Amino acid sequence: MKVLIDEQSIKNRVAEVAKQIDSDFANKDFILVCILKGAFMFTAELAKNIKSENVSFEFMAVSSYGNEKRSSGKIKIVKDIDVDVQGKNIVIIEDIVDTGLTMEFLVGYFKNKGANCIKVCALLDKKDCRKVEARVDYCCFDIEDRFVIGYGLDYAQKYRNLPYIAEYTGGNNE
Ligand code: 5GP
Repeated sequence: MKVLIDEQSIKNRVAEVAKQIDSDFANKDFILVCILKGAFMFTAELAKNIKSENVSFEFMAVSSYGNEKRSSGKIKIVKDIDVDVQGKNIVIIEDIVDTGLTMEFLVGYFKNKGANCIKVCALLDKKDCRKVEARVDYCCFDIEDRFVIGYGLDYAQKYRNLPYIAEYTGGNNE
């Protein structure tokens, strides 16, 4: 594997993005919705840097990938959030936006539930890989079309614990 973004660079950039979110939601209640499993580490780092007293956290799990490297396009909710989001301000926290299919689904889902404001925050954005339009309001890093692991991102459920982001270069048994 090849390190693409080191631990300190991630920390510095996440702190900047947290500051931006704080300022955009000053004096407003908002919910950060962590999309499991990939966004767990990113959400924790964001949480440590957000100063607002009006933030709460929810966790949701969706699946689309299985053990493959490209989205199947079929998104399924594996775990839903526990609160009513009607009239609430939501920031969806994703590890990576690739084809945009997952984000399109999630934004539609929260719209249907009557959320007031829906923003998208992603650690990584593979802009060139979109199949559908998906806006990222808060993006930490743009990356090229490479399969990445670490900092929450997996390959076949492994490598989520790496404190940096790396390009996965191996075969199934690496
Ligand atoms: P999309 O629906 O935008 O195609 O894909 C979003 C999801 O696909 C992400 O939440 C992530 O789980 C997975 N994904 C997309 N690209 C990568 C990648 O390079 N590495 C890993 N580990 N997962 C990816």
